[in-house]
Amino acid sequence: MGSEIHYRGCPLCEAMCGLEVEHDGQRVQRIRGDARDPLSEGYVCPKGTQLGALHDDPDRVRAPLRRRGSEWEEIGWDQALDEAASILHRAQTQHGKSAVASYLGNPNVHNYGAMLYGPDFLRTLGSRNRFSATSVDQLPHMLAAYLMFGHQLLMPVPDVDHTDYMVILGANPEVSNGSIMSAPNMKGRLSGIRDRGGEVVVFDPRKTQTAAHASAHHFIRPGTDAHLLASIARELLRLSAGTPSPYASYLRGLNDLERMLAPWTPAAAARVTGVDAAVIEAVARKLYTEERAVCYGRLGVCVQAFGATCGWLLNVINVLSRNLDAPGGAMFALPAFDIIGGPRALGLGRGSFGRWKSRVRGLPEFGGELPAATLAEELDTPGEGQIRALITIAGNPVLSTPNGRRLERALTSLDGMVSVDFYLNETTRHADLILPPTSPLEHGHYDVAFHALAIRNTARYSPPLFSPGPNQRHDWQILSGLESRLLASRGAPTRARAEAHGRRLLQPEGILSLGLHGGPYGLRGDARDVQGRRVSMKRLKRAPHGVDLGPLRPCLPERLGRRSGGARYIDLCPDVLCADLERLEADRGRPARAPEELVLIGRRELRSNNSWMHNIPRLTSGTPRCLLKMHPDDAAVRGLAADDWVQVRSRVGEVAVRLELDDAIMPGVVSLPHGYGHGRDGVRLSVATQLEGASANDLTDESVVDAVSGNAVLSGVPVDIRRADATAAVARPPQGA
Ligand code: SF4
Repeated sequence: MGSEIHYRGCPLCEAMCGLEVEHDGQRVQRIRGDARDPLSEGYVCPKGTQLGALHDDPDRVRAPLRRRGSEWEEIGWDQALDEAASILHRAQTQHGKSAVASYLGNPNVHNYGAMLYGPDFLRTLGSRNRFSATSVDQLPHMLAAYLMFGHQLLMPVPDVDHTDYMVILGANPEVSNGSIMSAPNMKGRLSGIRDRGGEVVVFDPRKTQTAAHASAHHFIRPGTDAHLLASIARELLRLSAGTPSPYASYLRGLNDLERMLAPWTPAAAARVTGVDAAVIEAVARKLYTEERAVCYGRLGVCVQAFGATCGWLLNVINVLSRNLDAPGGAMFALPAFDIIGGPRALGLGRGSFGRWKSRVRGLPEFGGELPAATLAEELDTPGEGQIRALITIAGNPVLSTPNGRRLERALTSLDGMVSVDFYLNETTRHADLILPPTSPLEHGHYDVAFHALAIRNTARYSPPLFSPGPNQRHDWQILSGLESRLLASRGAPTRARAEAHGRRLLQPEGILSLGLHGGPYGLRGDARDVQGRRVSMKRLKRAPHGVDLGPLRPCLPERLGRRSGGARYIDLCPDVLCADLERLEADRGRPARAPEELVLIGRRELRSNNSWMHNIPRLTSGTPRCLLKMHPDDAAVRGLAADDWVQVRSRVGEVAVRLELDDAIMPGVVSLPHGYGHGRDGVRLSVATQLEGASANDLTDESVVDAVSGNAVLSGVPVDIRRADATAAVARPPQGA
């Protein structure tokens, strides 16, 4: 059989690149970038070219597995779903609905079947112990959006193609290709800013790839970004005094800010952050005077003790500098399937905060979920309300959440565990049943979430490339199968069972079609694509490269979420965030770190995607990537040299890794990527288990969270480092941990 070409969107990260897939009907032969994709225009990163290798991975689980002691046996789907539902039902019957916890990993949000069916399954499960990767990631941004703009997903996106001044904190978009800023080829887009005479300024404890190509880079002490942002906001208030705000008719709280931010003079912020006061003043001035400017922060500002306050202050800065909802500033996308403004049944809801608290530590619910940092203690702390069973869906919290070793120990004490996953990994090896979904090439693809966070409005539907085998199930079919069995076990009313049945008949494509039809570019909406045409499922199926819906456009105040009472407004001073300034002020007085103290930060690698792409040979070959970066001066005072094995110890754990000396990292800071540490008994990842490295989350501390949002603190973890020998290359908890 000859070669054919299939076009599809890449489901691996937020950038949503268009792919040109050459195949013979059975196997992928080559993947390149789709030059006609209106968003990615031919860009592709090394991960996207390996989708075929992921599909063909011999370690990928292709039939349900049931544990028999330390072995696994393949069983049929009906039996697997019956037994899985029975594990969940039994725990709920004996101990209450919240005795079953769920954990959803990052790949769910790239899978429209899971996105559209997951919420129904979780509603039916009815547990308050819901967890996901959100709270080791972007939760602070979502909380800020919920409190300030009235919807948890109304997160502004830098209009990077039209800005002339971009300030970046805690992000490396040249490697990530944007996050909460879907932007393929960020390297090219950032070059574009400089080519048109603009500037890119980066604050980061590491001179990242983005920083290396920026107009200016400034080291900032890990965990101090909120002080820098508060000071920039204070300067902007001074610069804008007496000038009416363009948002005045729907802005609340502006008058309170000046008093609250008064302590953060540039000089005071400089003492905490290590950034020169003159730099802070200059950045604030430029943000205010440059017509098209934006301030953007990402993971590094989220996974720290003041994550929510950082998310808030970033938005405050874009408001005060008049760059919110303005071309070249921080804008809002208008997707064809509108999970923000569309019917509630098709979206994820406006959000919620603090409706209940976690049992052990009292951390707040957000959007129906509790912080992942509290999962282990909810599992291993005896008492009323203890979690007895767990379902994980495309997640590997043992490697992705803080103090993974404690979580791993806690998993062994569960009454039952079910995993919907196609890998037998560090987490799913503890399950009683593994229910493997189809591969990304075997189901349709539409980015339900990330079109809402993209730098340009586009829409693209990709049909399945390969038909699933008769013994395979999609994620949504697995979740529906579990849901219907749970309802039947409970003797649920016929109506609830009929609704679940109706959704199954509709299938994800039917729901997507309905959403497009009722969306802003559909029959009922006013928006049109760049050719002046509507968007429907039929249209998308005829447009394999996707449809261009045009640049981001101003949309406030209409796009703001409706608050209780019906009003739409920006709340510049949400109570809970303003109250956190007291804690931030106390933090200004913290003693400077002793010169011998080190703190750990993470880093993103172009060929890695959290923990789950490490079994692809082409992405992991060559130089080991899980090395600990350390400044040469820090190494010299410890008598360490490049390639030395070192023992890294934190309050909760200890790992052995190899050292890489790098003067691009700030003295006093060391960096390790997360998602490694696969060499554990029973894991079925033949490539990943051979990789050198350890899990950074064997060092991160689940007891330290952002006090407002409960988000994990993964950056700025105090560590002690000493020489080790190569035989110590296995992570282990310290005595007594
Ligand atoms: S940048 Fe992201 S979306 Fe684009 S090819 Fe790479 S993994 Fe896929």
